[in-house]
Amino acid sequence: MNVKCPICKKKTEWEGNTFRPFCSERCKLFDLGRWAADEYKMDGEQISEESLEDDTLSSNYQIPNDK
Ligand SMILES: [Zn+2]
Repeated sequence: MNVKCPICKKKTEWEGNTFRPFCSERCKLFDLGRWAADEYKMDGEQISEESLEDDTLSSNYQIPNDK
């Protein structure tokens, strides 16, 4: 059975292929790197845990509105 490598679109053998669905280790690593880069990007956009706790604290201890 032949499958198309999702990275380079080259046809590759499915059976006995250690790197499936990729054609080679290079394409497998490329895909892993892509995911890692995505995660890194998301991490950078997250606010730090400290400021998150600060937010939770201030909303918990809000003075109730008397209306
Ligand atoms: Zn490939």
